[in-house]
Amino acid sequence: MNIETKAIHAGNKIDSDTKAAIQPITLSSTFERGENGDYPGGYIYSRSDNPNRKSLENVVTALENGADACAFATGNAAGMSVFQALEPGSHIIGPDDMYHGLRNQLKLMFKGILTFDFIDLTDIELIFNTIKRETKLIWAETPSNPLLKLCDIEAIAHIAKEHQLIFAVDNTFASPMCQQPISLGADIVMHSTTKYLNGHSDVTGGILVTKEKDSFWEKIKIVQGYGGAVPSPFDCYLVTRGIKTLPYRMRGHVANAQALADFLEAHESVEAVFYPGLKSHPQHDLASKQMLSYGGMLSFLVKGGEDKAKEIVNNLKIFTQATSLGGVESLIEHRYSVEGPDTKTPKNLLRVSVGLEHIDDLISDLESVL
Ligand SMILES: *Cc1c(COP(=O)(O)O)cnc(C)c1O
Repeated sequence: MNIETKAIHAGNKIDSDTKAAIQPITLSSTFERGENGDYPGGYIYSRSDNPNRKSLENVVTALENGADACAFATGNAAGMSVFQALEPGSHIIGPDDMYHGLRNQLKLMFKGILTFDFIDLTDIELIFNTIKRETKLIWAETPSNPLLKLCDIEAIAHIAKEHQLIFAVDNTFASPMCQQPISLGADIVMHSTTKYLNGHSDVTGGILVTKEKDSFWEKIKIVQGYGGAVPSPFDCYLVTRGIKTLPYRMRGHVANAQALADFLEAHESVEAVFYPGLKSHPQHDLASKQMLSYGGMLSFLVKGGEDKAKEIVNNLKIFTQATSLGGVESLIEHRYSVEGPDTKTPKNLLRVSVGLEHIDDLISDLESVL
């Protein structure tokens, strides 16, 4: 099946009692046992498993060409489960521009339990030299936030395999429509389903997909079931519903982002534009090789510094000034002021989650403030 078909069918189960064509939301926290104490419906208790969670896990497994998935209440809980599944003392190599929520999670919650180095993952030699005896995991995020830097998934997968390391990729920025890390050699893919997968900015959620049901995956399943940071049936229903239109939404996000990037690059008030679909992007060739399309996120530097950047976000009419991404509505954000003082993000950078409004309206809104 092609991805459009999987998105619609892989997460839906026609109800066996009522024949409801769209799978109902199963709110029950518990499930009736059989006379001999077994579980004839296949479910025991909703923390351990739930039909709507199962549907969400099935569809994302299909989209990412994996073997299994574990859904969580947030993207951060999904990422945390990978870290929690490591033995204490393990060393992690992550990107120097890792999503700040997960970087802070490691620094604030795993200090003394795990060790980590945040490095430039575009430098393959540096990755090689950072690996030590305790290294267990390479965590990559591509394209990265907010500079849309790429790292070479196939090349890192190769190093990880050579050193028997687990290789996880945060695929939130790309979505499975634009990039499929498992097909490029990754062991685990993570998504904040809050973003493109749900796509309507009304749920928080996260998910992990595995290439193989190996012993590390068994540990992650333990973290999911006993840790219990699981999503509600209603949230799972909403994300599964959102995913049905993901392939068509992504086409619109990508087309609008490319057009907006072209417009911004030609504008005299703009110093630089970061979008993998631009020929000027330093890793445009890598993007063309490993991405199926270039995504819906971009960022740009404004001439006139931080004050001008803030003036722009305060005067746009269609773009909402807010954090997050992947919804149908366009969002714009001054990243430096969200990420805090230890960030490398330039003060005149604006990040855009390009939505599905008409491109002419988005361009004229920006034109009027630039
Ligand atoms: C939002 C985001 C996360 C965290 O997801 P939450 O659902 O907010 O917990 C992780 N990685 C990336 C790239 C994100 O954009």
